[in-house]
Amino acid sequence: MISTVPGHPGLIVAAGFSGHGFALAPGVGRRVAEWLRTGTVPDVLRPFDITRFERGERRPGI
Ligand SMILES: Cc1cc2nc3c(=O)[nH]c(=O)nc-3n(C[C@H](O)[C@H](O)[C@H](O)COP(=O)(O)OP(=O)(O)OC[C@H]3O[C@@H](n4cnc5c(N)ncnc54)[C@H](O)[C@@H]3O)c2cc1C
Repeated sequence: MISTVPGHPGLIVAAGFSGHGFALAPGVGRRVAEWLRTGTVPDVLRPFDITRFERGERRPGI
């Protein structure tokens, strides 16, 4: 998940990368920094929002 957390304003979590966290870290860090700088969630990160679990999606878009 790469997401704000309902009930915790200002908190952004980027976690749960399983065995790919090192490889994904540079791109994720760049996009999250862009998000913090602009205040807008980059489109590429939207599928990883925590609210997908409430919709019953186990993986982004699935
Ligand atoms: C065996 C194994 C092999 C892997 N191989 C690869 C690979 O080949 N390529 C790849 O891209 N990724 C790999 N990964 C995944 C990668 O290691 C993780 O995705 C990455 O380390 C996650 O980074 P992180 O900073 O989010 O979390 P972490 O590296 O888990 O860091 C979290 C830190 O928070 C600390 N912490 C936890 N709770 C508290 C607390 N309450 N107070 C203070 N500190 C706390 C922990 O001690 C830890 O230092 C592998 C993972 C494992 C387990």
